[in-house]
Amino acid sequence: MPLELIVGPPNSGRSGEVLRTLAARLADEPLLIVPTRDDIARFERDLCAGGSPALGATIRTFGAVFSDIATAAAIASPPRLSPPQRLALVRAAIGATDLRVLRRSSSSPGFAPALDSLIAELQAGLVAPPSLRASAEAAGDADLELELAALYEAYEKLRDGAGMSDAGSIARTATKALRDDPDAWSGRPVLVYGFDDLTESQLELVLALAGRTEVTIAVNYADREALAARAGLLTRLREEGAAVGEHLELQHGYTTSATLAHLSESLFEVAPGTFAPDGGVKLIEAGGERGEAEAAGIEIARLISAGTDPGEIVVVLRNPSRDGPLFASVFRGLGIPVTLEAQLPLDGTAVGRSLLALCRAAGEDGEPADLLAHLRADTASYPGKADWAERAVARGDAESVADLERRWEDAMPPHLARVREARSGVDQVRTVAAAARRIAEWVHREGAPLAGERSEGVPLDAIELRAAVTAAELLEELAAVASLPGCDAPTLSEAAEAIESASVRSWLGAAEGRVRILSPYRARAARCRHLFLCAMQEGVFPGRGALDPLLGEESRKRLGIPQLRRREQDQEERYLFHACVSRPTETLTLSWRSCDDEGHPAPRSPFVDEVIDLLGEDADAVEREVTTKRGLIHAVPMPSEATNPRTLARALTATAGRDVEAQRAMLDGAGIDLAVAGDSLAITAASSDPAWRPGPLEHPDVLASIAGRESLSANSLEGWIECSYRWFVSHELSPERLAPVADPLWLGSLVHASLHALYADPPGDDTIPRPGDVDRWIARFNEILDGLLGGEDAGFKGADRRLSIARTRLQVRKYLEEEAERETDLRPRPDLLERTFGFPDKDGDPGALELGDFTLRGAIDRIDVAPDGSRAVVRDYKTSKKVSGRAKIEKEKKLQLPLYMLVARDLLKLDPIAGLYHPLAAYGDRRGRGIALRDEVKDGILSGEPLVANRKTDDAVEAEAFEEAILRARTDAVEFGARMRAGQIDRNPLEGKCPTWCEYQPICRRERALGIEEESQGSDDS
Ligand code: SF4
Repeated sequence: MPLELIVGPPNSGRSGEVLRTLAARLADEPLLIVPTRDDIARFERDLCAGGSPALGATIRTFGAVFSDIATAAAIASPPRLSPPQRLALVRAAIGATDLRVLRRSSSSPGFAPALDSLIAELQAGLVAPPSLRASAEAAGDADLELELAALYEAYEKLRDGAGMSDAGSIARTATKALRDDPDAWSGRPVLVYGFDDLTESQLELVLALAGRTEVTIAVNYADREALAARAGLLTRLREEGAAVGEHLELQHGYTTSATLAHLSESLFEVAPGTFAPDGGVKLIEAGGERGEAEAAGIEIARLISAGTDPGEIVVVLRNPSRDGPLFASVFRGLGIPVTLEAQLPLDGTAVGRSLLALCRAAGEDGEPADLLAHLRADTASYPGKADWAERAVARGDAESVADLERRWEDAMPPHLARVREARSGVDQVRTVAAAARRIAEWVHREGAPLAGERSEGVPLDAIELRAAVTAAELLEELAAVASLPGCDAPTLSEAAEAIESASVRSWLGAAEGRVRILSPYRARAARCRHLFLCAMQEGVFPGRGALDPLLGEESRKRLGIPQLRRREQDQEERYLFHACVSRPTETLTLSWRSCDDEGHPAPRSPFVDEVIDLLGEDADAVEREVTTKRGLIHAVPMPSEATNPRTLARALTATAGRDVEAQRAMLDGAGIDLAVAGDSLAITAASSDPAWRPGPLEHPDVLASIAGRESLSANSLEGWIECSYRWFVSHELSPERLAPVADPLWLGSLVHASLHALYADPPGDDTIPRPGDVDRWIARFNEILDGLLGGEDAGFKGADRRLSIARTRLQVRKYLEEEAERETDLRPRPDLLERTFGFPDKDGDPGALELGDFTLRGAIDRIDVAPDGSRAVVRDYKTSKKVSGRAKIEKEKKLQLPLYMLVARDLLKLDPIAGLYHPLAAYGDRRGRGIALRDEVKDGILSGEPLVANRKTDDAVEAEAFEEAILRARTDAVEFGARMRAGQIDRNPLEGKCPTWCEYQPICRRERALGIEEESQGSDDS
């Protein structure tokens, strides 16, 4: 019987030809073989497109055809191994094989799944274990390949011994039956469509069928560079005697854009010529991953609002499993109906993640982090439980899962408790399987929210339910493997491995009426008017191709087995890109991001340049003409780009603040129908409700409590000035930390206490270290610090803390050595070390500083006094690398030093001549910074003090400026203290910039990316 080919490039009408043949031969009950179940659905729809049923034809995948033939030939086919059973046999084969080269790696996670894939590839290529062994022996020096052959052999032996079958054995048996039994095929004609390549076992079947009936294969090929990757299939079929029946040409009329037709015909050709853009090709350059998805989404929304059916729009991503969830979620947020057609990793879903972490936590090497991950991903779990566990771990109260279990006693997390109660490995795996459904369903137990519906509870996400079903089935099958010969009872680590290597379909059912997000492979069969090819980045598309972890390219070459040779990756990528370019009938849009979300450059794909080169001689001019740019600055769509009330509300808030009237005026000016914008205004009006936005303080009790503060501290005032909201959270709400106090804070207080004790009881003859006794000072400091550390609960836990302590000793040593070298007559007065004021119960307390309606209290680290007993220097130790000089003190209103000098003068009756911060952790420049009297620095008692003195950042000032600085601090303290006591708090960081270290953004919810403008509404300080 003839083996006939229909050969043609994309858009040459191959699928139409196949359909016509199928329809013409319905009476002969033709069989059409296609790659996927989705292709089956598509051809079935097309066959019945006329409205009348097309009875007689069968459409199947190769896997189904193999099984059908085996059934038709009445072969007693053994039961087929499920994926976990197959993996278990692979593991048993590894355990039963004497390995040398692969001994170490065979015990690593991932080895068994990788071997499973390799065996499947060898079976599909009809490379039997003896052939692999023979090729390895012939290649010489192939110990690894010989061990792989032994593993393959052991697996097939175990499979046959268990009386089971797999895809490889079914294919082999079915083809043999077809060849041996002339009646095994009734003569039904066969058509094959949609395959880029055929595996050896598929080709064998096709050739066996061709011996019995007419077989027609549609091949996607034309003599073009872009289709070079598909030349192999045509050559192979011709070698097998296939004849070309139809040779189809590109049908230019498939598209309304001459530019698109030109691209489809000329891409990657030598000297292709150019064709001026006619609107068929567009480019989008965006900033950031989310920004790119939003930019593409806005264009798609425009098409839909102009009347395009969403089902006629396709978005292609080279890696939809990785990038698809972000695009799908952004599109949904824009109100675009979308279907992501991708296999997502099971452990990428909340259910999968929670189960994986449960298996790990309950396993022998379980870590508290695994248990936390399990609890956090289980939406049915009470969040307080995870918080409690996290805090116990962070504080060092629990170091293992067992510690946490002991502390929980009877209140163990339910899934972990059930796994612990299970008596065997099989029971444990079954318990985890049962947990899958509970985790997915429990959160909805009292309601049945519809997908996408906003509800009070957890929104229903269909993929989580699918993930639960997939995981439960997978684990149930795994639990059953103990019955297979050679297989041990499964363990939790095997369950974890099974979850890690499984995937789940992100979609189900038809995608009609929805924008589809696809891979290039799926896009080949997609018909659309508009195609968006997104994430066009260097290294992404063209991709680099996955390497086989067991049988690398070199090994494949040396073995010389043709079926194991891989396709040329660059040819494959060009083919896929061409396939995408040739799909749309109206527009093709390529998008990429010029930088990531942090602004780091991200080069675009060279394929974009290939397209630009085809659109004109002057590439720059062409690019300008067809490109829409949307940089990181467009964090939010413009009102005119809004796609639904929510997006419009975001856009309005970003551009006109929360003032609804301003928004209304803006919409009016932009010609946006106010009736249309009504929902958005309602949303922004709701969000401008003071109760929704954190602050200002309103509750009378709270206001009364703050107003009743009669005594404030300089530290507190400084904190309020830096950001009144941060002050409110840290000082008033004072959230309890999960972890112990951060090292710098913890160590800082110990260092202050040690220095106080050191100077209060000097170990030398003088009250400051001198060259002859500095070693005694250093030794004494270390003794004092050791004493304090010994009594500190948090003690020496962890290498980081030990390192911090060692570093601190070195820093203080440096400080003492430098002080010993300083020629100065200033000496600390013992009663002015750690001098408190405003604390009447402390010895020698001079009282609080009067500041109008309130007083100031605090503690000054140290005051040094001149021999005249009057002139004084206020010193403050800082355990930081840098401290503020005069200019910064004035600019940022750092009140502490000037106010302490005021205390020295007004309360302690001294004559302040300087206030200095000492940066104990500084590396190079360790000089004190602050404010000093120039006369004293130049020729006076401060001449031995190393200070910063240059024109720009001179810390030394004339007497008048010195006095002014002290008085200004007083005025500021009175003013800010009054505002603080009036309860004025706002999200108003200094200079509008939130420091990166501020941890309170989740509480204040200030949109850092948008900057101060967004905040200016209603803020007194901005
Ligand atoms: S994030 Fe900014 S506004 Fe919020 S508390 Fe911190 S500094 Fe203040």
